[in-house]
Amino acid sequence: MSNVIDGRAVAEKVYVDLRGEIATLKSKEITPGLAVVLVGDDPASRAYVRSKDKMSRELGLYSVKLELPAATTQNELLARVEELNRNPHIHGILVQSPPPKHIDEAAIVRALDPRKDVDGFHPLNVAKLALGDPSAVVPCTPLGVQRMLIESKIDIAGAHVVILGRSMIVGKPLALLLMQKTKGGDATVTVVHSRSRNLEAITRSADILIAAIGRAGFVKAEHVREGAVVIDVGINRVDDPANERGYRLIGDVAFDEVAAKAAAITPVPGGVGPMTIAMLMANTVKAARQSL
Ligand code: NAP
Repeated sequence: MSNVIDGRAVAEKVYVDLRGEIATLKSKEITPGLAVVLVGDDPASRAYVRSKDKMSRELGLYSVKLELPAATTQNELLARVEELNRNPHIHGILVQSPPPKHIDEAAIVRALDPRKDVDGFHPLNVAKLALGDPSAVVPCTPLGVQRMLIESKIDIAGAHVVILGRSMIVGKPLALLLMQKTKGGDATVTVVHSRSRNLEAITRSADILIAAIGRAGFVKAEHVREGAVVIDVGINRVDDPANERGYRLIGDVAFDEVAAKAAAITPVPGGVGPMTIAMLMANTVKAARQSL
């Protein structure tokens, strides 16, 4: 049985560091401020926004939760983003994804002040990450995966990392991050996706296998080499009448059979999820520090 990496415990370590940094910033009369914007009333998005707001308050950040009706127009949303761009008390802005269909999400991301883009999705931040510029704001989930590997003392340098999934939110930025020529990087990275041939042979050659495809229990024992590290980014809802909510959350990895083979593995929930919120807080603090 493998070592189960506890994402909540790693996130707690991050918060200990952040509390120190926040105290230092406050001594310079700067309270890091985060604005989270929700358009519409999608229940999952609402829950995410609530937990981000709660965590900000617990850390003593200045937190603004902006809840806008589903009928908000593109121009109205752009105007709110502009206000937040100009607000000196706000260092980080996050527009919860996905917005309603009539909103052009890419245009909203481009309208953000890149210094306040704590999701790291603005083209300038994407370019900075590709260039290895340390001032880049890096997307929270990839940053959380990297931090988790570092805190768990898993060797990244020289390791063959195979990432399942090539999205702009997880797979692609994670590949850039782990191949960087810096601490926490230097990996040999392979990215596989729905058009990849010989997927199983590739995943089996991974020292570190990271699954981010959104397919419940896709990664089975035969995808994994004995002794590999397996990080499960996936969050999938599956029906579960025994659960009071009528569903439960599971990852992209068939946990039990893979855990029997892997050296270390992350659970779902309680793995990468808590790290994503921790990194949102870290990005907000970084944005406040860089505003000095
Ligand atoms: P996405 O945008 O849907 O991208 C999925 C990627 O997986 C695509 O690149 C797709 O390939 C690839 N893929 C899909 N089916 C595949 C298959 N059968 N074989 C190989 N590759 C396949 O998803 P995402 O936003 O990256 O999210 C992925 C998962 O992570 C979801 O479950 C999401 O809920 C979860 N997530 C979790 C967190 C967290 O905090 N823990 C944060 C973000 C996302 P193509 O490009 O070829 O279509």
